[in-house]
Amino acid sequence: STNTSKSPTIAAIATATGRGGVGVIRISGKDLLPFAQQITGGKTPKPRTALYTDFLDQNGNAIDNGLLLYFAAPASFTGEDVIELQGHGGQIVLQMLLQRCLELGARIAEAGEFTKRAFLNNKLDLAQAESVADLIDASSQSAARMAVRSLKGAFSQHIHSLVEDLITLRMLVEATLDFPEEEIDFLEEADAKGKLARLQVQLSTVLQQAGQGAILREGMNVVLVGAPNVGKSSLLNALAGDDVAIVTDIAGTTRDTVREQITLDGVPIHITDTAGLRQTDDVVEKIGIERSEKAVQNADVALVLIDPDEGLNDTTHEILFRLPENLKRIEIHNKIDLRGEQAGLQNEVSGSLKSGADMLIKLSAKTGEGLDLLKQTLLDAIGWQGESEGLFLARTRHIHALQAAQVELENAALCGNNQLELLAEHLRLAQVACSEITGEFTADDLLGVIFSRFCIGK
Ligand code: GDP
Ligand code: ZN
Repeated sequence: STNTSKSPTIAAIATATGRGGVGVIRISGKDLLPFAQQITGGKTPKPRTALYTDFLDQNGNAIDNGLLLYFAAPASFTGEDVIELQGHGGQIVLQMLLQRCLELGARIAEAGEFTKRAFLNNKLDLAQAESVADLIDASSQSAARMAVRSLKGAFSQHIHSLVEDLITLRMLVEATLDFPEEEIDFLEEADAKGKLARLQVQLSTVLQQAGQGAILREGMNVVLVGAPNVGKSSLLNALAGDDVAIVTDIAGTTRDTVREQITLDGVPIHITDTAGLRQTDDVVEKIGIERSEKAVQNADVALVLIDPDEGLNDTTHEILFRLPENLKRIEIHNKIDLRGEQAGLQNEVSGSLKSGADMLIKLSAKTGEGLDLLKQTLLDAIGWQGESEGLFLARTRHIHALQAAQVELENAALCGNNQLELLAEHLRLAQVACSEITGEFTADDLLGVIFSRFCIGK
């Protein structure tokens, strides 16, 4: 039987829901050749060769016909035997095929279970496994390029090299602990201080690149706030390049939150046009306002549109009052075309306007003047430095782990010559933090490495 309780066969429809020319069912498990033979009526597929065949039901009637691909363990995505049934992409026929797989002893795979098996069978490390999901979810071409680099191991390689250098340094320090009378000379001779300093540089480079990658992955949330009629919808349309919001001359037209994603220099930017954050008794408007408040709470930057002729009216005051205190604000004076003003950026808002922003941009949503300035300012606000070859599509988890390792290295650097135990501990914690990224740290692994390099002749 293919359905052992220890390593059950899993099956799932691998293609997107809906109609398609081709639909794929993926099956992973142990010894799947009997499975293949039952579904094909006795044919034996060759590994990595397309077999054109009928897919048969219990009674030998064709459910569908198509290609069967067989990947023999361990040369497969999961490291187990994998079979792919490529049939026609209709939901009914795919469901019937999946049902047939269940009859043959498979169970429906959990979300991410194929990738999880790949990780458990050492086909991918944790960071690579995560990049599979990131590639599928990528919301811009740049993000997709970075995800595939991580999937192919670019990020993991940097982590491995960090961990290897950490292990070398740890071995030095821990070996020295055994010979207290010679410790200082020994460490100086081996340039432990220099090694630690180079590790710190190496780590901050990876952290910087991972930070840029995280920007690419997470994108940026921007909210447009301001009194009715100041030009929020128009600015959203101008940034998005087409009509997503309703623009009218009647104040308060934008009742619902309108969200649009644009891509600036590869970075996905989610822009939300708020319905105006203010008190209301109108039920429909209330729903919109609740959504707006949520968008505001999740925002990285608020574009505060103010009519310079009106200044801060009551509505704007109330809106500003409702913005989170630490939310970065950029003040926007729209409609310069009406006032005959030049587009421009001012870094400190002087004069009577006190929106709490640290910069002011004058632009026209109608003519597009000043829009490029705004786009660049948004990218600067999150620290985007442009796509480059060295970036990884990092996750917040990775950033936190790298930051934790950085703190440990900083503490290690502060250790004096009489604090070698403490130094060793900081280095160990730095390694634990780094190894969390690739998911392969265990204390036994490390001991194994240390002993295999040290025990001979000692
Ligand atoms: P909202 O209520 O803040 O979303 O404002 P809208 O985007 O609906 O704009 C209100 C009115 O101002 C509309 O009639 C727009 O056409 C007009 N408007 C918006 N931006 C500009 C601009 O830059 N120049 C001019 N001349 N009119 C604008
Ligand atoms: Zn509007």
